[in-house]
Amino acid sequence: MAGMRTTAVHGGREDLGALGVHAAPIDLSTTYPIPDQAAGGEALQSFADGAAEAASPVYARLHNPTVARFERALARLEGTEQAVAFGSGMAAVTAVVQAATVLRGKSHVVAVRPLYGGTDHLLSSGLLGVRTTYATADRVADAITPDTGLVVLETPANPNLDLADIAAVVAGAGTVPVMVDNTFATPVLQNPAAHGAAYVLHSGTKYLGGHGDVLGGVVACDAERAGALRQVRIVTGAVLHPLGGYLMHRGLATLPLRVEAAQRSAVEIARRLAEHPAVGAVRHPSLPGADPAGLLGRQLRGPGAVLAFTTRENPTDVVRGLGLITPAVSLGSVDTLIEHPAGLTHRLVPSADRNACGVPENLLRLSVGLEDVEDIWEDLDKALSREWNSCDLDYVKASSSDFPLSVHNL
Ligand SMILES: *Cc1c(COP(=O)(O)O)cnc(C)c1O
Repeated sequence: MAGMRTTAVHGGREDLGALGVHAAPIDLSTTYPIPDQAAGGEALQSFADGAAEAASPVYARLHNPTVARFERALARLEGTEQAVAFGSGMAAVTAVVQAATVLRGKSHVVAVRPLYGGTDHLLSSGLLGVRTTYATADRVADAITPDTGLVVLETPANPNLDLADIAAVVAGAGTVPVMVDNTFATPVLQNPAAHGAAYVLHSGTKYLGGHGDVLGGVVACDAERAGALRQVRIVTGAVLHPLGGYLMHRGLATLPLRVEAAQRSAVEIARRLAEHPAVGAVRHPSLPGADPAGLLGRQLRGPGAVLAFTTRENPTDVVRGLGLITPAVSLGSVDTLIEHPAGLTHRLVPSADRNACGVPENLLRLSVGLEDVEDIWEDLDKALSREWNSCDLDYVKASSSDFPLSVHNL
């Protein structure tokens, strides 16, 4: 089998030689001529039954060749039979919940916190008609009922980089399929399906696209589950635009190099942050004590390039003091991004729940990019060392209860 970098460059491009092109064509057709309407009907029926391909795409909500190339490439990188792409990571999460619960007559989900704030909010909102029980990774088995259709896990978790043993959670779930959100690790560092995950989910908006210019999601799984996901995608219309499919497919080619380079800088930044007087705790799988279960090497091939740290000063003041680093949500872009989870990505998670699962008010999440590591460090060090920060007594008082959030201090 080809190596990771080779697969990243060549995956999904098998048909290009026959087409006589070098770059994958972007097929923007919304409809496809079907002179033989009976044959068109058969193709439509195949898609309605969950097929990955048919004689004609018929209509762009059913199939798109550009998106299909990205799906084939991602499935190869994750080591699954197939993959199904969606218009966003949240559309992908929604489709997995629908396919694993409603389609199978189930209405209960077990989820391990912390999760991406949007996923947490979707599951607790009841919007999809499911009830959610939150459990710690080692108590999943106790939360399973005959009505449970899905277990949701994220590792490394957003935003605090908690690690969970996928195989242990899969064992606790028994016959219930486990979805692992692999957005932080990417297929470069972790392949959850190899540890028993039924669904491997990515927000392609992050590392897969990699340049902050495309929104998308994808789920890697076996052919049967992929068929159900395609059926859901057809009826809900949660499709990925072909241009998004093209950009994410192109992003895969450089994914291993980007992840390796950003990770190298993240290890160094984490080490220096841990020694910085203005910093409390630093969360990164590379640091001593961050991996008590010994998952690095066994499940996770590297610590990744996202880290989190608590500040002794008001975190929003630290962000305001930065110059180079982009103050923005999202992650996995070429530029380094920083955000305040309690105020932004995890704002809709109740603060008591946030605190209980290790997302304190003064936590900042840093997605290390591809800039020179010394430039990233200089920017961080300067923002953390500003004098007016360290004498911000108002914040010290406020942090003893719940740091008040207002639109003002975001
Ligand atoms: C961003 C993100 C999502 C949601 O993806 P969108 O593309 O923004 O819809 C889901 N899970 C994780 C871990 C994320 O970081």
